[in-house]
Amino acid sequence: MSTQQDNNFQAIISHAKEYGFVFQSSEIYDGLSAVYDYGPNGSELKKNIRDYWWKSMTQLHENIVGIDAAIFMHPTTWKASGHVDNFSDPMIDNKDSKKRYRVDHLIEGFADELETKGEEQKAREILQHMDALLAKDDYAGLKKLIEDNKIKCAVSGTCNWTDIRQFNLMFDTKLGSVTDEADTIYLRPETAQGIFVNFLNVQKTARMKIPFGIAQTGKAFRNEIVARQFIFRMREFEQMEMQFFVRPGTEGDWYKYWKEARLQWHLSLGIDPSKYRYHDHIKLAHYAKEACDIEFEFPIGFKEVEGIHSRSDFDLTQHQVYSKKKMQYFDADIDEATGKPYGNYIPYVVETSIGLDRMFLLILSNAYHEETINKEDGTTDSRVVLHIPEKIAPNKLAILPLTKKDGLPEIARELMNECKPYFKCFYEEKDAIGKRYRRQDAIGTPFCVTIDHQTKEDNTVTIRYRDSMLQERILLSKVKDLVLEAVM
Ligand code: ATP
Repeated sequence: MSTQQDNNFQAIISHAKEYGFVFQSSEIYDGLSAVYDYGPNGSELKKNIRDYWWKSMTQLHENIVGIDAAIFMHPTTWKASGHVDNFSDPMIDNKDSKKRYRVDHLIEGFADELETKGEEQKAREILQHMDALLAKDDYAGLKKLIEDNKIKCAVSGTCNWTDIRQFNLMFDTKLGSVTDEADTIYLRPETAQGIFVNFLNVQKTARMKIPFGIAQTGKAFRNEIVARQFIFRMREFEQMEMQFFVRPGTEGDWYKYWKEARLQWHLSLGIDPSKYRYHDHIKLAHYAKEACDIEFEFPIGFKEVEGIHSRSDFDLTQHQVYSKKKMQYFDADIDEATGKPYGNYIPYVVETSIGLDRMFLLILSNAYHEETINKEDGTTDSRVVLHIPEKIAPNKLAILPLTKKDGLPEIARELMNECKPYFKCFYEEKDAIGKRYRRQDAIGTPFCVTIDHQTKEDNTVTIRYRDSMLQERILLSKVKDLVLEAVM
């Protein structure tokens, strides 16, 4: 990361704290590493992003329904899914600092450094070499790659590395009060398995016909080793996942469909397309047929925000084997090739999986701007503004009476009562109007309305637009509809 990028990232982190978006967890006890809390503006923004995703999945797709499964699941779930045996990352320890790194992160960090030094070609070669070695699980080769390039530990500054080992990322705990009798259970590392084990419950009760999807949002937990990038990589985080069940043989087309549809969802928020790119996986999980990441240009570089995975029938088959319960679907549609119904089969699955916290960071870092304003009198001013898409901004409208007297607060309160059932409003009387505008810019409120003495005469107000800072007079009676139109 360049110094400029680093400064920008630090500025966003400070801003997130100062304006009540994100706090470190248990801050009064010096925090808990890679765990964060969302403040008043943050929890609104997070909820709005979640709702926007949920609506796009379950309301705009007639063939996708939602569930809300528990975090705790029967421990055999994680045996069946492969997480007990395979949910691990290759790690390497520096013998001098005792610091542990995920191998791919260590090498990627080195490649980033090369890029900032202008050695793009070398960075690309190293990443390609790394991908090839990871695909073969060639740990000796990876260690050699680290040593040959003299990749150093950031803490000790040495190249004194251990061999590479696997480290399981699941948190375990005990169910019940008597530890001896209790089983070890896991905090779910992904929400997807709650969907798979409920596949038939949902299909039957909601009378779904293939192709159909099941969506879920909720907490997931991973004992991440490298956890120092704010809310990019957390130990407790939230996922928004959708498993789409399809007839075997059609998964390739559905994979293409969801790969495109998910990128379009991101772009529907009005974010610059050049900040997005796909990264097709070379190393596929043992069950995967195709997989890609949607990457975004965060202040820490291009990184994954969402994964699209063609998971074959792996998960449902595994649950059928471990639970000894049939996970089949009866497809009554006629197969033109045979003239008979497709009959019973275990569906194939295409998954879309996005981290809510990572999407939050995407929105925040894309929105954050430090701007210089050229004033009419030739002087300059500055502001920090969050250009958050109107639809998901924490507050949609700030209602600001110019003074605390002369009946202006009463008019403002009336407008507040008219608008607040429809969208989130913020009311404030304190301080000069310019200062109030700046505070709203800093939390990304798209519209401010000022009630002044003229309002009493002609029922007009000044509306100020966050992005352009333009102000115009409109009828008080038009405010609600103007905002509604922009935020729907
Ligand atoms: P990464 O390579 O960054 O660790 P992953 O490939 O393990 O991610 P998936 O298992 O595909 O991630 O999870 C789907 C999504 O969940 C990711 O695209 C990301 O947005 C989010 N996610 C995964 N791990 C974390 C984490 N530790 N903190 C925050 N979000 C996460």
